[in-house]
Amino acid sequence: MNPTANRASFTFDGALNFFLPRAQQYQRIEHVFEWRASIKDMIESLGVPHPEIELIVVNGAAVDFNHIVEPGDVVIAYPPEHGVAVTALPLRPPYPGRPAFILDQHLGRLAAYLRMLGFDTLYRNDYHDEELARVSHDEQRILLTRDIGLLKRSLVIYGYYVRETNRQRQLAEITRRYHLTDAVQPFRHCMKCNGLLIWVAKEAVADQLPDGTARYYDEFHRCTSCEQVYWKGPHYQRMQTLIDQVINGR
Ligand SMILES: [Zn+2]
Repeated sequence: MNPTANRASFTFDGALNFFLPRAQQYQRIEHVFEWRASIKDMIESLGVPHPEIELIVVNGAAVDFNHIVEPGDVVIAYPPEHGVAVTALPLRPPYPGRPAFILDQHLGRLAAYLRMLGFDTLYRNDYHDEELARVSHDEQRILLTRDIGLLKRSLVIYGYYVRETNRQRQLAEITRRYHLTDAVQPFRHCMKCNGLLIWVAKEAVADQLPDGTARYYDEFHRCTSCEQVYWKGPHYQRMQTLIDQVINGR
């Protein structure tokens, strides 16, 4: 077999170019292949993890990840919100319900922020890659990571590579990507442990509060896992400021 006969062209739209070597960004890539493979494998061999892709068009028609690339195929891969008017073939089931996350060990501060905004967010600094992929798959959690290899694992259905390194910008990035603004719900998850918070009477937590706090605040929540108590004190004010600055861009 003459390997040069097997060529397909790949173009990656918008944000997907982030994953390509600079010399291949924003252009048509002529890809030579020696054996048949699924489009998912071929796209990942070029550098782009499958969870980042929302739509694949081959020769003008949408295909799924199992499409076997044929010589001469013209492939265009798109990220979410591509605005392309092609009858899409869903690459994965629509995400079910309120976003829930699992984060890799690089993203501890982002985990606390997401919990603060009321999103169920698993984070441990000792998760192994295999565990992250499996829990993400089994619990239908969106895997947020700074590890491209982890995102390429086939178990991962919903996932995203966090581009920003500054934690406030990361929060803004994830908020935009997953449209979180309207779903923000403070005092739902514990920032420390992700446990569910419940409303508690002031008397029940009085002995856990700093001096004076009981006098100025009336609404208290307690974590059902670690018993941490939360109220709308200075911490809450800072959160409101953060939401305004980071999420609403004010
Ligand atoms: Zn807790």
